[in-house]
Amino acid sequence: MKNNKIAIVGAGPAGIAAALQLKRQGISPLLFEKNQIGGLLLNANRVDNYPGFPRGISGPALVSLLRKQLQVMSIAVTKAKVEELDFKKNEFRLASKDKEYSSRMVLLTSGTAAVIPEEFSAIPEWNKKVFSEIWSLRCKQNKKIAIIGAGDAAFDYALSLARKNEVIILNRSAHRKCSPGLWLETLKSSGISYLANVRISKVGLDKHRQVVIDYRQQLRDSVLEVDFLVAACGRRMQLDCLSKNLSRLRGQLEQSGLLYFAGDVANGSFRQVGIAVGDGIRAAMKMVKKLGESGI
Ligand SMILES: Cc1cc2nc3c(=O)[nH]c(=O)nc-3n(C[C@H](O)[C@H](O)[C@H](O)COP(=O)(O)OP(=O)(O)OC[C@H]3O[C@@H](n4cnc5c(N)ncnc54)[C@H](O)[C@@H]3O)c2cc1C
Repeated sequence: MKNNKIAIVGAGPAGIAAALQLKRQGISPLLFEKNQIGGLLLNANRVDNYPGFPRGISGPALVSLLRKQLQVMSIAVTKAKVEELDFKKNEFRLASKDKEYSSRMVLLTSGTAAVIPEEFSAIPEWNKKVFSEIWSLRCKQNKKIAIIGAGDAAFDYALSLARKNEVIILNRSAHRKCSPGLWLETLKSSGISYLANVRISKVGLDKHRQVVIDYRQQLRDSVLEVDFLVAACGRRMQLDCLSKNLSRLRGQLEQSGLLYFAGDVANGSFRQVGIAVGDGIRAAMKMVKKLGESGI
């Protein structure tokens, strides 16, 4: 088991920015990614608040630039899920399904996971019909897709998918939580319908493998049949890999400069690419400083 100086869990914008900063300082981190390099950014329709792109840039296009930069800087990404992160005998242990790694310091840039309402996970084959991110649906066309949610993600997903599909946004309350800009764009899109105050009573799959949604709106019962359902019902910090022991030691390890958190996993509702990138760079610089001071 090779002992690495620094391991980074998650190759989204925060983890990538940290890895680039470390490489610049001559350190090659172990960078883990369980899904797709680029993280949540892969879902973004148009990022227009990240400096350097006067007309904005789509999430996937920004991710391909990040991938390119990793390649140019010769930063390898280990395609594995860190199932468990523990701390024993003065080092971190990172266990994937079939391998164990160790490192002296760890940066968690594991982002957030979608909150999936329980009734959706009861659908047979739900993982082929119900989604919480849309990057794998981008290739679909002429499909009917329902999105449940009322925030920026729901409307952003709708704008991406409505280019080639029919999209219906179902808001369970009367209030939208998306930015005014996204709402205006939604109004301009002919492919998106929006229903507010929707009370969903049942979600299932019929014999044609269509998702059937029974709902009530304005005292009327209706049924909606769609090809796919996207749940944009909120996100939670993604820290499932922390062992009980590590969760107990967390404060102590952070204080001693061995464990760091950056990006969406650490920023509450301040979930933006620019913040994640800056945060990743700051964590990397702190780690380099600590390495210098402690002679690790
Ligand atoms: C639809 C949508 C539109 C958006 N639009 C914008 C926008 O216009 N402007 C903007 O600034 N921001 C936007 N954002 C937010 C932006 O995408 C996030 O703030 C940013 O991606 C956060 O980066 P991160 O690296 O902290 O986390 P993430 O991007 O979530 O990356 C975390 C990574 O860690 C990986 N991971 C997690 N656990 C493990 C594990 N145990 N082992 C290995 N890998 C693991 C995940 O697979 C993931 O790839 C948008 C988000 C969404 C969903």
